[in-house]
Amino acid sequence: SNPPYKTPVPDGYYKPDSPMDLQDRKANASFVMLVRNSDLSGIMSSMKQIEDRFNRKFQYPYVFLNDEPFTQSFKDHIQALTNTTVQFGVIPSDHWHQPSWVDEDRASKSRDEMVRNNVIYGGSVPYRNMCRFNSGFFYRHELLQQYRYYWRVEPDIKLFCDVDYDPFLVMQDQNKVYGFTISLYEYQATIPTLWNTVKSFINANPDFVAPGNAMEFLSDDGGESYNLCHFWSNFEIGDLDFWRGEAYSKFFEYLDEQGGFYYERWGDAPVHSIGAALFAKKEQIHFFNDIGYRHEPFQHCPQGDVHAKGKCWCDPSQNFDYEWYSCLNRYDKIFS
Ligand code: GDP
Ligand code: MN
Repeated sequence: SNPPYKTPVPDGYYKPDSPMDLQDRKANASFVMLVRNSDLSGIMSSMKQIEDRFNRKFQYPYVFLNDEPFTQSFKDHIQALTNTTVQFGVIPSDHWHQPSWVDEDRASKSRDEMVRNNVIYGGSVPYRNMCRFNSGFFYRHELLQQYRYYWRVEPDIKLFCDVDYDPFLVMQDQNKVYGFTISLYEYQATIPTLWNTVKSFINANPDFVAPGNAMEFLSDDGGESYNLCHFWSNFEIGDLDFWRGEAYSKFFEYLDEQGGFYYERWGDAPVHSIGAALFAKKEQIHFFNDIGYRHEPFQHCPQGDVHAKGKCWCDPSQNFDYEWYSCLNRYDKIFS
């Protein structure tokens, strides 16, 4: 006969899921994970935390994107983590690869130069593809067309606190377009000409610049120079329609034409941040103070009552918010 542990625990012992998953109001939203097949264990770790801390109650779907097809084994492991819908998409080749009009000679010389200068990911073409894709293409992927809001999740992140409310509904009800948890300075060497390019775009298209924008987050001299502050885009909760809108679309197109994603190493974080800070009102950019979050090597750990309310497990003294390399003080300043 079977050993006793092989007899399943009878159903009656299981508590039903929280009634919160019966809530009637839901946003039109999805998680978005851009990953390689080789990122499986890291993204499972992230997704398990998302499920446990939040999505087990709220039941939002997932979209996984990759520049190559996901293996069956990858899909099976991911689907096993949730009862919600998971879709797996391949990125169209021209949304991912270096465009033919980019001068490869010039691009490769600049990569070599960045390698000599020890710029992080300075020699990598795939990293540049990823930054360009995240800057201007993910929200155009066919699997995301039906959605209005997204939550970007990367491999190997930590979520420290229970998220017992629906952040998508907060975005929707308060007309927010971009949410972040960590902000910091960009490496100047990755974006030598980005700000001049931004300035020439806004000079040519002054009407796209929103009244009451967050320029003060980006610049300490009224827009003359960039202070390198940006929202860390490995975490984002945002409005896809904002990226799809005319201002940001034209902005991305203009940046892309200059070739800086390849001649330099423009990141999607400064590009999104500059777009959100200039084409939205400052109140539309939201600091998710109650979402405890870590992506190596920085973390946001909620403080005081917020830490208690979320039952957070991070050490409150390990908190990037007002470290010297953080830009949160500049975010605070724009509301003062
Ligand atoms: P970092 O956070 O800037 O160090 O960069 P990551 O290596 O975490 O990459 C950012 C995101 O893009 C992560 O979600 C990665 O899984 C994903 N990513 C990076 N490179 C590639 C790639 O070549 N193909 C795919 N499919 N995803 C990538
Ligand atoms: Mn990462």
